[in-house]
Amino acid sequence: MEHLLEELLSDRIKATPPSFIRSILKTASNPEIISFAGGLPNPVSFPQEELLVSMERIVRTYGSSLFQYSITAGLPELRQYIADRYNQKFGLHLSIDNILITTGSQQALDLISKVLLNKGDGVIVEKPSYLGAIQAFSQYQPNFYPVELTESGLNIEHLQAALQNDVKFIYTIPDFQNPTGLTYSAENRDRIYEILKEQDIFLVEDDPYGDLRFEGERLPYIGAGRLPNSILLGTFSKTVTPGMRTGFIISENTELLKYISVAKEASDLHTNIFSQYLIWDYLEHNDYDAHIAQIRKLYQTQAQFMMDAMDRYFPKSVQYTRPHGGMFLWVTLPEGISALSLFPKALEKKIAFVPGDPFYIGMKDTNTMRLNYTNADSETIDEGIHRLGDLLKDMIL
Ligand code: PMP
Repeated sequence: MEHLLEELLSDRIKATPPSFIRSILKTASNPEIISFAGGLPNPVSFPQEELLVSMERIVRTYGSSLFQYSITAGLPELRQYIADRYNQKFGLHLSIDNILITTGSQQALDLISKVLLNKGDGVIVEKPSYLGAIQAFSQYQPNFYPVELTESGLNIEHLQAALQNDVKFIYTIPDFQNPTGLTYSAENRDRIYEILKEQDIFLVEDDPYGDLRFEGERLPYIGAGRLPNSILLGTFSKTVTPGMRTGFIISENTELLKYISVAKEASDLHTNIFSQYLIWDYLEHNDYDAHIAQIRKLYQTQAQFMMDAMDRYFPKSVQYTRPHGGMFLWVTLPEGISALSLFPKALEKKIAFVPGDPFYIGMKDTNTMRLNYTNADSETIDEGIHRLGDLLKDMIL
């Protein structure tokens, strides 16, 4: 049967890497293991009491509409809320026609590539990039053109070189990037905008973490509001609940949104309408910004705790990013040390992280790893980083 399965499987699925993180998470779910591997928001970000109130209210108010089929583009009231919020915060000029609700941003990544990519088409990604995006795009068998991510954003020379290829879109995470925690500078954003405005390609700006800034001022988007081919992704996963799977695509290109809507219809008809009502009602009846401020404060403390612990316990030759927001930081080991081969040794000491390899296209035994700081308390962070530091000292000295 195994042989037959191999013959029957599509090229598409054979070209798609399984999620490395999901398999790690399985191991790391052992409660004895201190895990910095997942990307789980802290449960404090789930406003459970308020959601309970909303749940009761929407069932009583909207009754059967919550349990019926609904429209593909998403709940109009929720789309209006999103349009108003982005117009107010970022000076955009959106109407509900510019918003499409998706089953998490993850579905947006799938739909965008389904709509735009033929086999062999070019996609520019950051190096390293979000592995869930690499996985979603891989299904459509594109050629990837990775562009190095620096402390201040994309390497502009690499970007210009990558654009010499036949490229359909560029995928970026300008704020508190997953996996590195890095943020593009204002100048870097402007340079990218100046380059892309001359190009007939789409810009995908994936922004799940922008609201989670705990240091510095929010920076403008690269494309939203000024590039007609901009596609901006948002989600309620990191600020309300990931389990409700509610994200959204914002674009001024309503023609493109129509095609994406067709792809979505074919895929799941529409995003869970109960989730959409629930989140909309929560947003309407609560101080969402005050809630986000609470999450930010907690993540700032946790990030600072992790960085302090790394200063204390890591060998000096190990470098790491200092994020201004979001959920991750990125560790670079001395040249030639594979984070992947460190991983089983770390598990023996009951500590887990994500080795850098799956965030790159076709690279093995890289000297990088991603650490998440949002889902462990301060003592656990200290203990985990202490153990990891001891292991690194053994390996490096
Ligand atoms: N994009 C990025 C950069 C992410 O980090 C994540 C979540 N890990 C997603 C998209 C998917 O988020 P959602 O829960 O909205 O599907």
